[in-house]
Amino acid sequence: MLLELDHISKIYGDLRAVDDLNLTVPEGEWLAIVGSSGSGKTTLMNMIGCMDTPSKGSVKLEGRKLEDLNATQLADVRKNLIGLVFQKFYLVPHLTAVENVMVAQYYHSVVDEKQAMEALEKVGLKDRAHHLPGQLSGGEQQRVCVARALINDPKLILADEPTGALDSETSIQVMELLKEVARDRLVVMVTHNPELAERYATRIVKLKDGVIRSDTMPYEPEDEAAAAAPVHRNMGHSSMSLLTSLSLSFNNLLTKKARTLLTAFAGSIGIIGIALILSLSNGVSRYISNMEKSTLAAYPLQI
Ligand code: ADP
Ligand code: MG
Repeated sequence: MLLELDHISKIYGDLRAVDDLNLTVPEGEWLAIVGSSGSGKTTLMNMIGCMDTPSKGSVKLEGRKLEDLNATQLADVRKNLIGLVFQKFYLVPHLTAVENVMVAQYYHSVVDEKQAMEALEKVGLKDRAHHLPGQLSGGEQQRVCVARALINDPKLILADEPTGALDSETSIQVMELLKEVARDRLVVMVTHNPELAERYATRIVKLKDGVIRSDTMPYEPEDEAAAAAPVHRNMGHSSMSLLTSLSLSFNNLLTKKARTLLTAFAGSIGIIGIALILSLSNGVSRYISNMEKSTLAAYPLQI
């Protein structure tokens, strides 16, 4: 399952911006979240997009709880799994369209202008690639943002009011583009425009005061068997080769440096202790035998 929200809440003082919310979204859906201003939509999106953490409950992406991941793993999830599109675009004003797309590649440490150009071509902006954001219309800027979100080929696109700053005609262009995107990705979109949601989304969730008021297609596991906890069948030896398992364990050691160091330290305490006891007992017994020898030498026995 790509996205699961398990009893998540976000609490600010005594305001529950998101209140004990459950939601399961399989791949291939286009989920629209609608609701009036202040209903908790952005708060919810930020928690799904690893930009904020829930006060209670957990967000699971591809079955992994975000709260269990360390900083490196979380950065990987942000990089590889999630593409973001915002209402306010957030394009760098002094960079051209193609450079703005390359900014997202930068975090992936493969900056490739050709690939960025291809992404712009997909959103129909090849001929605007070297324009600055200020020289582009709102709709064009938002298409640059979609190209930027797609460049790392994420499985999940999160769009918070992507058409909020656009007129209705340009909104439709951007929605048509997202429709292409949604063919092989999960799109979660927040919108204040119920008509666009009706027309494009495959599922609509209505939020009010941080609670889901309606869901047009609540997720139901297909049958009992699928719902049951998965059974681990292979009870024999794992089929991993020795080399793979060694490299996996080495990687594991490297990713959890603090734990590895602590374990090594704790283990060495035991070994040091044994060495100390052995050397002490050895030294004491040698001391005693030396003393015996010297004492007996002072009183030689005569028979
Ligand atoms: P929406 O996106 O649906 O308009 P938000 O998710 O932005 O709503 O906000 C939901 C509620 O949470 C609002 O009442 C807002 O004032 C409150 N809120 C959002 N962020 C914070 C914050 N950082 N601190 C305190 N209250 C917040
Ligand atoms: Mg909002």
